[in-house]
Amino acid sequence: MAFKPANNIQDLQYFGENGGVNPSISDSSTYTFLKAKTMLDTFEGNTDGCYLYSRHTSPSNLYLGEALAAMEGTETANVAGSGMGAITPTLLQLCGAGDHIVSSRTIYGGTYAFLKNFTPRMNIQTAFVDITKLDNVEAAITTNTKVLYCESVSNPLLEVADIKGLSALAKKHNLTLVVDNTFSPLSISPAQLGADIVIHSLTKFINGSSDTMGGVVCGSSEFVNSLKSVIDGASMLLGASMDSLRSSSILKNMRTLHIRMKQHSKNAAFLAEKFEGLGIKTVYPGLASHPSHELFKSLMNAEYGFGGMLTIDAGSLDKANALMELMQEKNLGYLAVSLGFYKTLFSAPGTSTSSEIPEDEQEEMGITNGLIRFSIGLDNDIERTFEIMQACMERVGVLKPEMA
Ligand code: PLP
Repeated sequence: MAFKPANNIQDLQYFGENGGVNPSISDSSTYTFLKAKTMLDTFEGNTDGCYLYSRHTSPSNLYLGEALAAMEGTETANVAGSGMGAITPTLLQLCGAGDHIVSSRTIYGGTYAFLKNFTPRMNIQTAFVDITKLDNVEAAITTNTKVLYCESVSNPLLEVADIKGLSALAKKHNLTLVVDNTFSPLSISPAQLGADIVIHSLTKFINGSSDTMGGVVCGSSEFVNSLKSVIDGASMLLGASMDSLRSSSILKNMRTLHIRMKQHSKNAAFLAEKFEGLGIKTVYPGLASHPSHELFKSLMNAEYGFGGMLTIDAGSLDKANALMELMQEKNLGYLAVSLGFYKTLFSAPGTSTSSEIPEDEQEEMGITNGLIRFSIGLDNDIERTFEIMQACMERVGVLKPEMA
């Protein structure tokens, strides 16, 4: 039977105190115990339904975690204060000194910097590979490899990971497959395709209002409990916890995620086709020209489309900058990093979200100077948006008059 992530979210039922239709917010950092013995038991992880301290968890964070686990179809989930607050403890929980990670080379710049510059301090080494080539991925696995890491749709190049193929490799070599699904919530359900752990930056589409940071790790109860262990859990000890006020607001926004994703996808597909039709180099997984278009189709929950992210090549950094400034002036969106907002957001990854990656490596990966990453908004009249964008492109010389 097809996996229905939005139904799983819808089917959860919560009541707040006094019959509220939203769960009550736990406005407390610490919790009382009637008996001292219960406190000890809770520290040792032996009491269900008792709360200890909000860095460990809170009722509000559990509600949000439950909804996210339902969405991804995992046993459970643990929310964090940011996407990086989910990624870094996960990797540190899975790896220790001497261990090795095989990671996609096209990943969010912060994750790349963590693996390239930070974890080597702990003698955790990472091989960066072209994740679309399973042979290369397998060749990079060593006897010390513990983790295979990728993004389902990569930031910023929108490469698509063959999660089923990677999962087979992970099983063969006894590795944990960790997939960051930030770019494709609902469209792709990595755990259903064989991922062991699914991570999101909630800061993006899932919350969708660009007003908070957040992250989540979805996985088995065993792994998630290990992250929260008071003795040696990386989430508990590193402390990137989410505040309950925030988790309650993200939970409310999640209820419209399916509607928003469909609109993001519809608008992005419309613009991608138009841009490509104008002769602009456009990357969007929904275009037949995308090298992994068929793969994406074979992985996706079709009703949510190919997502809200696309890139174009404006030809040069100057043209990219001029275009972004003009589009902002025309109020088509904002020149800002991040994604998943109601307004279109655009940035040049080479000088922003991927600037942690040295220039020569950017070039090798295909992050060109003129690359603009778009997170397409929820515009009701996308045809009007396109017409204004086209005029902007003409004005800054991204479109030669004969292309227009
Ligand atoms: N993963 C991806 C794919 C991202 O794009 C980002 C941020 O841009 C992150 C993780 C990090 O998330 P956060 O900024 O919430 O820490």
